[in-house]
Amino acid sequence: MTQPDVASLPAAADLPSVMAESLFPAIIESSNDAILSKTLDGVITSWNPAATRIFGYSAEEMLGQSVLCLFPAERLGEETLILQKIARGERVDSFETVRLHKSGRPISVSVTVSPVRNAAGRIVGASKIARDITAEIDNYRQLDQFRSLVTSSFDAILTKDMKGIVRSWNPACERIFGYTAAEMVGQPIQTLIPPERLYEEQAILARIQAGERIKPLETERLRKGGERIHVSITLSPLHDAKGRIIGASKIVRDITERHRSEQRMRLMDSVFSHTTEAIVVTDERGTIIEINDAFLAITGYERHEVIGRDPSLFRSGRQGPEVYRAMLSTLLDTGHCQGEVWSRKKTGEAYAVMLTVSAVPNPGGGALRYVALFSDITSLREQQEKLERLASYDTLTELPNRLLFSDRLRQALVHALRQKHTVAVAYLDLDGFKAVNDRWGHDAGDELLVTLARRMQSVFRVSDTLARIGGDEFAVVLVDVGTAGQCETLLNRILGICAEPVSLQGTYVSVSASIGVTLFPQDNGDADQLVRHADQAMYQAKQLGKNRFQLFDPASDAAARVRARRLTEFSRAMRDQELVLHYQPKVNMRTGEVVGLEALIRWAHPERGLLPPAEFLPLIENHALIEAVGEWVIETALTQLQTWNAQGLRVNMGINIAPQHLKAENFVHDLLAQLAVFPLVDPEQLELEIVESSSIEDPELVMDVIARCQRHGLQFALDDFGTGYSSLTYLKQLKVNSLKIDQSFVRDMLVDAEDMAIVQGVISLANAFGKSVVAEGVESRDVGCRLLALGCELAQGFGISKPLPADEVPGWIERWSMRDSWALLSAQEGAPLA
Ligand code: C2E
Ligand code: MG
Ligand code: MG
Repeated sequence: MTQPDVASLPAAADLPSVMAESLFPAIIESSNDAILSKTLDGVITSWNPAATRIFGYSAEEMLGQSVLCLFPAERLGEETLILQKIARGERVDSFETVRLHKSGRPISVSVTVSPVRNAAGRIVGASKIARDITAEIDNYRQLDQFRSLVTSSFDAILTKDMKGIVRSWNPACERIFGYTAAEMVGQPIQTLIPPERLYEEQAILARIQAGERIKPLETERLRKGGERIHVSITLSPLHDAKGRIIGASKIVRDITERHRSEQRMRLMDSVFSHTTEAIVVTDERGTIIEINDAFLAITGYERHEVIGRDPSLFRSGRQGPEVYRAMLSTLLDTGHCQGEVWSRKKTGEAYAVMLTVSAVPNPGGGALRYVALFSDITSLREQQEKLERLASYDTLTELPNRLLFSDRLRQALVHALRQKHTVAVAYLDLDGFKAVNDRWGHDAGDELLVTLARRMQSVFRVSDTLARIGGDEFAVVLVDVGTAGQCETLLNRILGICAEPVSLQGTYVSVSASIGVTLFPQDNGDADQLVRHADQAMYQAKQLGKNRFQLFDPASDAAARVRARRLTEFSRAMRDQELVLHYQPKVNMRTGEVVGLEALIRWAHPERGLLPPAEFLPLIENHALIEAVGEWVIETALTQLQTWNAQGLRVNMGINIAPQHLKAENFVHDLLAQLAVFPLVDPEQLELEIVESSSIEDPELVMDVIARCQRHGLQFALDDFGTGYSSLTYLKQLKVNSLKIDQSFVRDMLVDAEDMAIVQGVISLANAFGKSVVAEGVESRDVGCRLLALGCELAQGFGISKPLPADEVPGWIERWSMRDSWALLSAQEGAPLA
């Protein structure tokens, strides 16, 4: 068989002869599959062109040759098995296997083997159709690998069409974006894009469409739920079979973590280079490995001068090595240390720094790093000192201020107690300083203060303290003042200095000073009290005429304090209605008639009982309270009088009027207004008891008051007559209705001839001036009888009645009226009256 003649194939014998003749050889010739036949021994009997194409051997090379040259060594047994099966007439299914190309390259083939029979139908060989499936197999293999790659990829891999609709979605997509493939495939990719980045997506699609290559980009995307993630995206176009772009595939990597740490790093980096604190990083042996810009700015060094050096380079030498040793040991113990140290700049200048050193683990896991932070606190220190100065000194005069003064004073007191010295505290206020300020302006005023401060300062010893307390006020502590004389000399010098003219703006201006002084421990107060006392004394010096000094007197101060306390207490008593009026009857000793009652004030003190007026009236004598008390007395007496009048008890009422009250501007007006409130009271029932001293300062005024009151029917009595001037001029001027002989004369008139003479004189005077006369303090019948004999019929006194509470008065009057008159009883001299 030298021809690849299909007619020679035994199989053709089964086909209709026309087919076998014309069609089969053509099919075999043009087939893409290798078609060959072989004997049962494996010798090739036909070989078509496709077999040549697939296996590389020509028909000449293969016809009559063993088929085994096509078999890879490990598959040689396959041929024997197949041929045995064929020989036995068994069916052989198509199978895929590997054969060798002439070049030795393996070829994947799909093989179909069928028996070849001779005309007698006996199997004489086999035909074989082999299809080259190498490319196909490779494709499949690649596809498989690709699929598993996509499935197991850590990155999200997805495809989308040109409308942005998602077409595929791998498991990593689900992990990164949170959506399942079912949720996303067929949905627009926009879901994943933050609104402000939608333009980005459109631009990219346009560029892909235009065939541009897109560089990987980093951007933000949205996870399901809205959380933002950072991603890097690599895009490639997707083509269809004809090479048209139909979409894009995307590989998306979640770089959120990396992004975050990058941000952090960037921040750290910027902190490192922008902070105003110097930062030095050393390795574990202390060699400098990194520094920041602030470090260079503060120290003045260049970077290359410091890297690789030891920090001891910066020591100023101002502090001993023990300071650094202590810090180092804390650092080693606790991993941290802090302190103020003096460092040195490149110029050699020393400066103060606040230094903090921390040991930090190396992020790479290696040895420790030390990070030192420091800032230049030199200006802070200076600022602090300035502030301290400001807090203790007056900026204008540069003298200590009040704060430092108090401090020095306290120290001086402690010292004085220990050393048994005397300390003088002086308070000085300039006289006429305000006028200088007003006339020459504040600058001139300031200049004056500065000049005087300097002059005064020159007089004191260093141990003394002159301070400016404020405005034009100064204070001085003089320690160990020695004798009072020495102190006086010094103070006089100060007065002299202050009074010396000061040249201001071309003219001379002079002021003076008023000084108050107190001496410790004679004045045994604390620092604050001493200053207050000196201030009080200064005030007195001003009142006494200025340009002088005044010594504080602890005793008078104590009295003033007691007075102040008592005044407060008395005001409270008035408010709490502790004042009461008692009434002392005034009778006609001859007729027995009760001619009137004198209202006498008492203080029903909650603890001390009923207090007589001598206990509290002197306290308020020169105080506004005296008028308030007077008004209360008038109102209370009128109320009482109205009540008694209404009860049919008609008596006259004597009311004592204090001089100050009598002379008060609205006295008459207020009194008349009060009378108007009590219509049942007849003004003639009232007798105002005044004392001579009322009229001394302004007789005209008092005369006018009396006259105006008398015009309204009011009566006047001159009380305590004989104790004051008993001036005849006054007696003439003051048109009072009666005189009251003071009890001090009446009491002893029987034993004291002079008192008797006075009593007689007053009675005569009263008669001569046409006034009635009343004896006060009649304590016995004898005195009463003697007065009657002298022509004085009216009397008051314990011998008749003590002052009585209002509710006892009507009863007393009733009992008294039932008595016989004094005249009838006068025979029994010596017996008590009541
Ligand atoms: P005065 O106006 O001369 O009143 C008479 C004082 O002599 C009263 O003292 C009275 O209790 C006291 N007295 C009366 N009879 C006797 C007696 O036989 N023996 C003794 N030893 N004393 C007698 P009192 O109440 O202590 O008042 C003293 C002074 O206080 C009064 O002297 C008067 O000047 C003043 N006073 C009393 N009440 C008021 C008042 O309401 N206003 C004002 N401004 N002064 C008053
Ligand atoms: Mg009186
Ligand atoms: Mg009197």
